[in-house]
Amino acid sequence: MNEHDSERIAGLLEADGMSRAETDDDADVVVLNTCCIRENADNKLYGTLGHLKTWKDAKDGRRIVVGGCLSQKDKDVVRDRAPWVDVVMGTHNVHRTNELLQLAIVYGPVTEILDEAVIDDHALFPSALPVRRETSYNAWVTIQIGCDNTCAYCIVPAVRGKEISRPFDDIVNEVKQLAANGVTEVTLLGQNVNSYGRDINLAERKSGADVRVKTMFADLLREVGAVPGIQRVRYTSPHPKDMRSDVLEAMAETPAVCEHLHYPLQSGSDRVLALMHRGYTAQRYMEQLREARRLMPGIAITTDIIVGFPGETEEDFEQTLAIASEAKFDLVFAFIFSPREGTEAALMTEHFIEPEVVSRRFERLRQIVEPHALEMHEARVGLVEEVVVEGPSRKNEGVMTGRTRQNKLVHFATPSQLRPGTYCTVYITRAAPHFLQGRLVDILQEPTHKIRIPVASV
Ligand code: SAH
Ligand code: SF4
Repeated sequence: MNEHDSERIAGLLEADGMSRAETDDDADVVVLNTCCIRENADNKLYGTLGHLKTWKDAKDGRRIVVGGCLSQKDKDVVRDRAPWVDVVMGTHNVHRTNELLQLAIVYGPVTEILDEAVIDDHALFPSALPVRRETSYNAWVTIQIGCDNTCAYCIVPAVRGKEISRPFDDIVNEVKQLAANGVTEVTLLGQNVNSYGRDINLAERKSGADVRVKTMFADLLREVGAVPGIQRVRYTSPHPKDMRSDVLEAMAETPAVCEHLHYPLQSGSDRVLALMHRGYTAQRYMEQLREARRLMPGIAITTDIIVGFPGETEEDFEQTLAIASEAKFDLVFAFIFSPREGTEAALMTEHFIEPEVVSRRFERLRQIVEPHALEMHEARVGLVEEVVVEGPSRKNEGVMTGRTRQNKLVHFATPSQLRPGTYCTVYITRAAPHFLQGRLVDILQEPTHKIRIPVASV
């Protein structure tokens, strides 16, 4: 979501006549879009702002903008600690970037942090703002902002506000527009995509319409997957408590929806899941996971796990290891619990786990999940996979990097470079826990999006 907002901020500035600077020295404006979900972004931010003060003082007219969830959370703190910042704005002010910058230029430093999103007009939905996309063949599409859940560790509801679903037709129209511009892959974004549409339905029912309150995510997957030109649909994140079979069926029945499910577990202990207020048990989680594999054999399943939630006992942690072994994830994003000021879990200080114990658990989890990741990757060796090119490999220009439908990273040698967005087939020759290797078989489709040609100002 943070990356998506950064693309919008860059898009708004470009729409206002700015262009991307190659170096800090060339820049007139620097925007820092902060994220504080797991790390202490504060230390990094204030360190960077210290350097930027020197940068700002070196030339007249330079401006600094700080946005994102840290400024949303800390409000006046950013201004107090770094008064040389020109604009401090929150997560709900992205659409105001240009106005705030102009105000700062004319009147001096401004701070504007709205407490909640103002969506009286759909145009204010972040996806409707101009955008400077980092890649031209795939795109994030916001389907929902905010979150109505109360996971005890999580700062998102505090900094992103209440859950608001974007109108169904607006989403589909944006995807059609993207496809018309050569985008072939979209990732639908929301904090709890399974509850997409619940608020829309509730509003309709309150207004007297005779509708059952239902979620509409399965319908959305089918509709987006049917847009001509869209060949890959991904989404993140579903919430296990709201995952229903209709979504898995829609995935299985819509050819464009990729065979990949990011399905955040957080913990394998029912006691910890309850303390976290996740609203599901490990058993229910596993039932849905098995259902996904039954409907889509070979689907890749990735997850998030938090290690060291306050009060997590050895036994709780072993239950997490047991579920991880049973689930055999393709990839686990493991996070050490980090107290986020303002959340329920941050107050459970007397139950915080010793850092050495947490590190040991983290390492034990790694040792359990890496062989599974390798095993899942090895199962791809000898297959011919459809791969979308991302670009040349960072280490070797003669090797291209791309993604399979399962979202696995593939490095493969090609006689000549392929443009990002090219669809090809690759014969998989080798597997490692975090990537595959292979060789090009065929080029299926060249990208049709326009190439961005940098224009130098004279
Ligand atoms: N809405 C998504 C998650 C968004 S946050 C969901 O419910 O799954 C992404 C991941 O960050 C979470 O899945 C969780 O594993 C991790 N995370 C969030 N807050 C955290 C915290 N305080 N400490 C450690 N990890 C955290
Ligand atoms: Fe945070 Fe839970 Fe909402 Fe995900 S569902 S954003 S973890 S509160």
